[in-house]
Amino acid sequence: MFARVIVDISNANVDRLFTYSVPEDIKAAPGQRVLVPFGRGNKPIEGFIIELSEEQQTSHEVKPILRTLEPYTVLTAEQLALSEWIRAAYHCTRADSLRGMIPAKLRGSRVKEKTVRTLRLSPNASREEFVASISTKDGGIKAPKQLEIFDLLDRPDAEYSAADINAFIPGAASAISAMIKKGLLIEAGRETYRDPFAGRSVKPTLPLPLLPSQAAALKAINEAGSGETLLLHGVTGSGKTEVYMQAIASELEKGHGAIVLVPEISLTPQTTDRFRSRFGECVAVLHSHLSDGERFDEWRRIRFKKARVVIGARSAVFAPVDELGLIIIDEEHEPSYVSELTPKYSAIEVARRRARLTGARLVLGSATPSLTSYYRAKRGQYKLLEMPERINGDTMPRVDIVDMRSEYLSGNNGIFSNLLKEAIAKTLERREQAILFLNRRGYSSHVECRACGFVFTCKNCYVAMTYHKFSNALRCHYCGASAFVPSKCPSCGSEFVKFSGMGTQQVEEQLIELFPGIRTLRMDTDTTGGKNAHRDILDAFTRGEADVLIGTQMVAKGLDIPNVTLVGVVFADSTLFHSDYRSSERTFQLLTQVAGRAGRADKEGRVVIQTNAPNHRAIALCIGHDYKSFFELEIGDRLHTLFPPFSVFVRALFVSRNEQEAAEAAGRFSSGVTEAILDTLSRQDAKNELIFVMPGAAPIRKRDGEYRYAVIIKLARTAHTAGAIEAVYAFAAKHGEECCRSIEINPQDML
Ligand code: ADP
Ligand code: ZN
Ligand code: ZN
Repeated sequence: MFARVIVDISNANVDRLFTYSVPEDIKAAPGQRVLVPFGRGNKPIEGFIIELSEEQQTSHEVKPILRTLEPYTVLTAEQLALSEWIRAAYHCTRADSLRGMIPAKLRGSRVKEKTVRTLRLSPNASREEFVASISTKDGGIKAPKQLEIFDLLDRPDAEYSAADINAFIPGAASAISAMIKKGLLIEAGRETYRDPFAGRSVKPTLPLPLLPSQAAALKAINEAGSGETLLLHGVTGSGKTEVYMQAIASELEKGHGAIVLVPEISLTPQTTDRFRSRFGECVAVLHSHLSDGERFDEWRRIRFKKARVVIGARSAVFAPVDELGLIIIDEEHEPSYVSELTPKYSAIEVARRRARLTGARLVLGSATPSLTSYYRAKRGQYKLLEMPERINGDTMPRVDIVDMRSEYLSGNNGIFSNLLKEAIAKTLERREQAILFLNRRGYSSHVECRACGFVFTCKNCYVAMTYHKFSNALRCHYCGASAFVPSKCPSCGSEFVKFSGMGTQQVEEQLIELFPGIRTLRMDTDTTGGKNAHRDILDAFTRGEADVLIGTQMVAKGLDIPNVTLVGVVFADSTLFHSDYRSSERTFQLLTQVAGRAGRADKEGRVVIQTNAPNHRAIALCIGHDYKSFFELEIGDRLHTLFPPFSVFVRALFVSRNEQEAAEAAGRFSSGVTEAILDTLSRQDAKNELIFVMPGAAPIRKRDGEYRYAVIIKLARTAHTAGAIEAVYAFAAKHGEECCRSIEINPQDML
């Protein structure tokens, strides 16, 4: 027997199948991890068996597999098929495509099964003899504890740890050691699963009777065809989770399993508790806050079908759920579903592929679906399900928009508008709580006129240009256009105010100045470094330890606090004019989320949004939570400017310590790849299909001592797009530039 093996080394040079012979005494199967001799020195290396065959299929001398690493297959046949697709779709090595499917610490065997020492009765022990040995002459028992232990264990399969016995029979320790000495008890080991839910019990819940819109959605999910994708567009509080749970329940009845993805940051115990309350023991979780041992054990519970419902973050899309019936991706618009590490996969794309491979159904849920998803649903690629109403007829909180330009012109150049100051004061008076939200992203900043709100945008792309300190210039991250920063506003002529982004610290300082004695908490990247910092801050705030919580995007996920009646968006425009074509979409999503959450429970909520662009659709339309109007306008703009979903960006990055080398590599790549792409397009349409190929310094030109240059390719989405993208990869593979670091399709950022 011969095995075709992928060695666990992420390097293009060894990215192929190697043949090994399988010794008689080794039981091997595809998907198993093995140790194989590799390279000239025959160094033992870990690898994955991909297939077995009777024939050698190679004329090279073959070496034997040394041993299997686990007694079971760590990869299922379905995962092997999925990894092959990932390799092709994201152009990564086979090893990279497989690594994501197993617990990281399994590699190198850095995590092990946990066994507890257990005790059971020796098979030779006889109760009669034992009782005789501890009886006194007058019929009493000398060692009553020992007898109790004997009786506890005198049942088929009875096997307990010493701690468990002690819990039944307090003070049993010395009796136990005496019985071990006498050979009555024997020590053994039993495997256990480390339990991430330890100490957190939940009350069981039953399915709720559904409202008509929920029932319709559930029916559509249950009746959807194999491999189909559905988009569930339901406002916050419309009862999406209840629909998910009932859809899962009907899969479980059929013997199928399910995967539920939620954004990492909302994977709180509260979220997982809802599923555990309904499905009990068969729920497993996978997220970054698990210990290595817990992660390994949860993965094994899934692998061995002890858990059938997996709740997890992005990478849980790879969980080895057998007979998968349903995948749910909640808050599907979240950018965190795209991996920043190699392979840079999108969990949604992987889930679609996996659904097609297995015949499972995929449900994407959101109150504000991504533009691309909603567009696909409208074109019939996804089945669209709408749940437009809240469960209990709750009213949405009142949203006020404050024009910060008028505040400035009337002499208030502070961070807080008069309206927001009043609202904070009232909240403090009523002993309620407020959240101040700064939707700030990344390092970049746009330049804007404080008096009239004029924003410098690129003439080609209509996205905000970004200020670059080192060149004192404005630049567009999509087409590379640049401009000098003028000294006066070209629109109103006023002295130009440069917006450099304000921090949470600044907001806190001004707040304390305005309201002496106010108790504040801050949540930003400075304060959330620790493992549970995010949760700890939210818990402290929930306990009422502060009046105001100030934070970035992160706080938007923690808004389910009953005493919070005011949400202030300090400056809505910082994401709005981020130099990204999705800024408007992201801003609308964030603000809608914020506005849909304030003032739950019985207290009336209020939202104040401060902006220089009160008429911008991403801000104006969130007053009425009007997703559909927003979509129609925004998708029209995308078509007009040819941004995704109507086009595709491909970005190749060149990195070197030598600036000239990086720049020249980008230049060579740019001209060569243009020819390669044109060859795949029909000559007639080429001008419309290849919009541009643009080499130039990356927005972050230098990082960690290395210079970064990029080639950005913009293609209109047509029938030829896939071929053109393949041509880019093929060209890169053939004319490999040594400093080509990555090639990405529609990257999450252009920095
Ligand atoms: P979403 O996920 O859409 O934000 P949830 O599923 O969290 O909404 O539902 C909001 C609230 O409504 C929850 O407290 C949930 O228990 C409750 N709920 C959901 N469906 C029903 C129903 N059919 N009847 C009564 N209450 C429901
Ligand atoms: Zn101006
Ligand atoms: Zn541009």
